[in-house]
Amino acid sequence: MNFSLEGRTYVVMGVANKRSIAWGIARSLHEAGARLIFTYVGERFGKSVRELAESLEGQEPLFYECDVTDDESIIQTFESIQNDVGTIHGLAHCIAFANREELKGEFLNTSRDGFLTAQNISSYSLTAVARAAKPLMKDGGSILTMTYLGGEKVVQNYNVMGVAKASLDANMRYLASNLGKDNIRVNAISAGPLRTLSAKGVGDFNSILAEIEERAPLRRPVTQEEVGDTAYYLLSDLSRGVTGEIIHVDSGFNIIGF
Ligand code: NAD
Repeated sequence: MNFSLEGRTYVVMGVANKRSIAWGIARSLHEAGARLIFTYVGERFGKSVRELAESLEGQEPLFYECDVTDDESIIQTFESIQNDVGTIHGLAHCIAFANREELKGEFLNTSRDGFLTAQNISSYSLTAVARAAKPLMKDGGSILTMTYLGGEKVVQNYNVMGVAKASLDANMRYLASNLGKDNIRVNAISAGPLRTLSAKGVGDFNSILAEIEERAPLRRPVTQEEVGDTAYYLLSDLSRGVTGEIIHVDSGFNIIGF
């Protein structure tokens, strides 16, 4: 088995800063020899991802702005990637958003707009991105998305994002079912809590972390590197028989009852 990703090209969506899960994934793929393409939204994050990518020795990454709320932006991004590099071998979708005021208090109070925003950016975007990326995966490929336990079980304050993650999980399975005949696999990592920009928006995030330290089998939070290395597994041929799967990288927390 060849563990190298040399000669392979991957699109990493969602690096906002050095704490982003997408950045952990980018580093693992880079270490394995992959060529990287980054997408971002907004010039602030564009600047940030360009600065970070400079630290990847020997890498000549490409950057594209892609707002996943805009179909035209998604289509144009993947058409540009196709023109610039031709074939890609996989994609990491590390994108989510919900209004901060709906990530605390009672889920019952979720607004229609807030609900649809979370679904649009955090779940539907995977469908739209997979459709646009499919023609570029001429030799087959692997699509990865990032989910969380809050889509399977009730997690305090996760609220509208929990419902979006449940939708994302089903979305991932339906895409896996559609794309398998094209030798394109679709999987998700359910990561344990990591202190990122998005996580800051979740009410009382510190108590979620404390719970992991107290009750998870490994008694510690996971690291960005651990999530990145599982992403490498899912995006490489090591996982070639795996599709439609959610792998929990969460110190085992999901197995605990009460
Ligand atoms: P992050 O804030 O670093 O990344 C979220 C990314 O989503 C940002 O880069 C942001 O620019 C992007 N985004 C938001 N709206 C967008 C839009 N309209 N178009 C394009 N991009 C958009 O946070 P993160 O924690 O690294 O999040 C990455 C993924 O991991 C998310 O799906 C998140 O739900 C998931 N996740 C996070 C944790 C955690 O504890 N941090 C745990 C499990 C799953």
